[in-house]
Amino acid sequence: MNIAGRVDGNEMARLFPLLSRKTDPFGGGRETRVVQVGQARFGGQRPVVIAGPCAVESREQTLEVARAVKAAGADMLRGGAFKPRTSPHDFQGLGLEGLKILREACEETGLPVVTEVMDTRQVEVVAQHADMLQIGSRNMQNYPLLTEAGRAGKPVLLKRGMAASLYEWLGAAEYIAKEGNLEIVLCERGIKAYPAGEYSRYVLDLNVIPAAKAETFLPVIVDPSHATGVSAMVEPASRAAIEFGCHGLLIEVASDLAGAAAPVCDAAQAIGPGTLRDIVEFIGARQEYLAKKRAHAAQQR
Ligand code: PEP
Ligand code: MN
Repeated sequence: MNIAGRVDGNEMARLFPLLSRKTDPFGGGRETRVVQVGQARFGGQRPVVIAGPCAVESREQTLEVARAVKAAGADMLRGGAFKPRTSPHDFQGLGLEGLKILREACEETGLPVVTEVMDTRQVEVVAQHADMLQIGSRNMQNYPLLTEAGRAGKPVLLKRGMAASLYEWLGAAEYIAKEGNLEIVLCERGIKAYPAGEYSRYVLDLNVIPAAKAETFLPVIVDPSHATGVSAMVEPASRAAIEFGCHGLLIEVASDLAGAAAPVCDAAQAIGPGTLRDIVEFIGARQEYLAKKRAHAAQQR
């Protein structure tokens, strides 16, 4: 038994050789890969903050939130144009129109954008408009979609299936890598465990962060918004995820302007730009603390 549970570490390296930390031909173990999207560097010196609305609901809403997250210090924009909804009668996203709005928001703010692709038939058009493709939790084991995403020539954000083991998650990432694309970022977004739904939407599995980092050189980020489903929990969950060593956060933000419409999608987990700024400041302060600690340790040597 190893840190990943059930699957032995060597077995992991045999099954997922393209992404394993342990399959370095020189035997030293591979360094964390830096996945660059515009100016954002996942796996670099500083955790990356992706923020934006759950869904692109209108041009005004998206531009307003994009400006607000940029001002709060986010590195990247998020927003769904194709939405996976539990009911087929609920808002499904603006589709191509939404992609165009996201592109406009990128051009105005200078933030690169990640957006979800749900279907192989959408890969080409999403890749034309987005800087990074998101594979959602519900599609983590949609192998044809993973293969197409791997061929699209764009970095991929791979969310963990809500009931997926680490082993299954890395297997899904390996499908993307098999197409020659190693520009992959893993995203923990909460799992369905016993209390899910009782006081939070899912159960945020912080323990998977060090476990995934031990098995693969890919950067690992956390989505505290879907993991908790409760806006008041998003900031503390973000801090905790940073303490657990994640390489970034994916956060849903809604406008707090007077008169702004409440989001149609996932309103209960949206935070305002002010809370996002607090999270960005926490990351900055923690970076300073770590730098001081390193300098102190170097002096002691
Ligand atoms: C999202 O991030 O927009 C989303 C739908 O998340 P998940 O796939 O994790 O449910
Ligand atoms: Mn959402």
